[in-house]
Amino acid sequence: MSDSTEEQWAGPYFVGRTLIEPTIAAWGTAEQQQRYLPGIGDGVDVWCQLFSEPGAGSDLASLATRARQAEGTWTVDGQKVWSSFANLARYGMLLARTDPDQPKHQGITCFLLDMQSPGVTVRPLRQLTGEEHFCEVFLDAVVVPDEARLGPVGAGWRVAMSTLSAERSGLSGSSAAGGVPLAPVLAAARHSEGWADPVLRDRLMTLLVTERALELTNLRAQGGTRNSAHGSITKLAQSELSQRITELGYELAGAAAACTAEDALTPEAYALLDSRRLTIAGGTSEIQRTIIAERVLGLDREPDPDRGRAWSEVRRG
Ligand SMILES: Cc1cc2nc3c(=O)[nH]c(=O)nc-3n(C[C@H](O)[C@H](O)[C@H](O)COP(=O)(O)OP(=O)(O)OC[C@H]3O[C@@H](n4cnc5c(N)ncnc54)[C@H](O)[C@@H]3O)c2cc1C
Repeated sequence: MSDSTEEQWAGPYFVGRTLIEPTIAAWGTAEQQQRYLPGIGDGVDVWCQLFSEPGAGSDLASLATRARQAEGTWTVDGQKVWSSFANLARYGMLLARTDPDQPKHQGITCFLLDMQSPGVTVRPLRQLTGEEHFCEVFLDAVVVPDEARLGPVGAGWRVAMSTLSAERSGLSGSSAAGGVPLAPVLAAARHSEGWADPVLRDRLMTLLVTERALELTNLRAQGGTRNSAHGSITKLAQSELSQRITELGYELAGAAAACTAEDALTPEAYALLDSRRLTIAGGTSEIQRTIIAERVLGLDREPDPDRGRAWSEVRRG
């Protein structure tokens, strides 16, 4: 991939290219595939992922946005949050609760939402770095045609699993998606006074070995050796490695990394602050560890006292 193409698939296009395209390819009707996939493939349409809500992040299946059906359309009410690039998006992949009397994983349906529909309000949120890449999205009596439903009614959780699995693999496989390379920090270390320090060299070696192991794991996955938790393993490793690289880069730069005369962020400070998002987006490190524990190590499932109960009967915060 050339730099410019890589850039094109990063940022606002990452969601469509990495998450939405494979999900529509897997679940969409022929009409939906013809309608939406060219705009993603050609880099014309920005997409956003409307999953998380103020009360449903790690426990996504608790989501409360409602879609009610009447005469071939659905009316959607609710609120989404942390929706990356929703302010630029032409379409959004939306999860909404269509049957509150089913257990929480079963009463969810997925829709392909036209972000220009009446009743959609998008409000950008400011991040630690000062940028505004994610948003709150308010849905107030938004009408969605049934043709924009992705997958069967009530199958939204299974559709979302396709998206989340693609997201975790995507977040661990490419520097465009936020992985921080070690090479520039290694080069800076070589030219620093600390290079003679065996503790520093030991830290660098640990990071280098982890980076190589991650590259090999991703290559093995491309060769077909992967299980359903592959994305969780590499997403966890990539995001934690990236944070350790940015922390070391900041330390090596010394006091000069803290601020500039213009009070702007230095590249090292920006990288340090920006890397905080990596262990949260796409599911936090704690959630990835739980998935690995259950699906790879075969440990007992996390207790869920509400398992099997209707969503409408479950107490929510
Ligand atoms: C940069 C960025 C981009 C994002 N983009 C999108 C997007 O485009 N679309 C979208 O829908 N969402 C997006 N998100 C939201 C993201 O998916 C959620 O932030 C994430 O799933 C965590 O949910 P939460 O923020 O509600 O935290 P919570 O779920 O409230 O978690 C708070 C803390 O509790 C811990 N925790 C929660 N449950 C458990 C448990 N069972 N066991 C152990 N620990 C637990 C978590 O690990 C975390 O440390 C984005 C987030 C970030 C940071």
